[in-house]
Amino acid sequence: MTPEKVIGRFAPSPTGPLHFGSLITALGSYLDARSRGGEWRVRMEDIDPPREQPGAGDNILKTLEAFGFEWDGPVIYQSQHLGVYQDTITDLLKNKLAYYCTCSRKDIAELADGDSGARYPGTCRGHTRPRENTSIRILTNNNKISLLDRLQGEYHWDLENEFGDFIIKRKDQLFAYHLAVVIDDAEQGITDIIRGADLLTSTPHHLHLQQVLELATPNYLHLPMAVDKTGAKLSKQTHATPVNSDNAVPELQAALVFLNQTLPPEHAHCNKHELLGWAIKHWSLENIPASEKIII
Ligand code: GLU
Ligand code: ZN
Repeated sequence: MTPEKVIGRFAPSPTGPLHFGSLITALGSYLDARSRGGEWRVRMEDIDPPREQPGAGDNILKTLEAFGFEWDGPVIYQSQHLGVYQDTITDLLKNKLAYYCTCSRKDIAELADGDSGARYPGTCRGHTRPRENTSIRILTNNNKISLLDRLQGEYHWDLENEFGDFIIKRKDQLFAYHLAVVIDDAEQGITDIIRGADLLTSTPHHLHLQQVLELATPNYLHLPMAVDKTGAKLSKQTHATPVNSDNAVPELQAALVFLNQTLPPEHAHCNKHELLGWAIKHWSLENIPASEKIII
């Protein structure tokens, strides 16, 4: 059997410029794919216009270029795939695997139970008649969902009891991230997903969708997330400072230090290409701290 070709990806949402947290994800996914002779794709997750910033997508691509990242194939835009997402939902509805949810935000806040208070109790199960301006939820079940993360180890979830049936198309008629990400990862033949540990709790939703849609499950690796002293994620939402493209080498060095792939002092003066080349050659999964959060 020939070993499977590794295909990794970086999938930013164009909600703002690249910040240190997303640089770590880009770098980790890039080094993991390249160190195994694999491809690395970029996919723009532009299906949530209200959260997007004009020009952010191009800005992210320019920044990646300025840092010396090279991607394979064209950049994929999720906004070009809306028809595929809709067809998938139509099939799920037809097969009674999804249903219309008429609950308002307020209803849900009142009804929601579960430990986190975020569980949807399935109130609208069985609503199969098309209704306008409602969200669409996928049915969950109480089968155990397990993940063997390449870095973080084992996780188990009971999706129905912990989260409940979840939204695949929003009330505002936008497609949910969970649905789009699973369809596109499969469509692009992604074998290895490397992303921040803030997305760990999204993973059981993705594994469930892969089972229902009969799609292959890729390997997952959730990198530790950079947090501030209060434990809050550095992100575009919290206005963490964008990375500076004119300062690519020090920023890349800091990202490598974060991933505990520290450059030996004799390489301290390399340019960005030499630095990425060194990092590909010396990429070590064992060195990455297997922790969900690291304070920086
Ligand atoms: N687009 C998502 C984000 O920027 C990441 C998706 C993923 O890696 O699965 O948070
Ligand atoms: Zn409902």
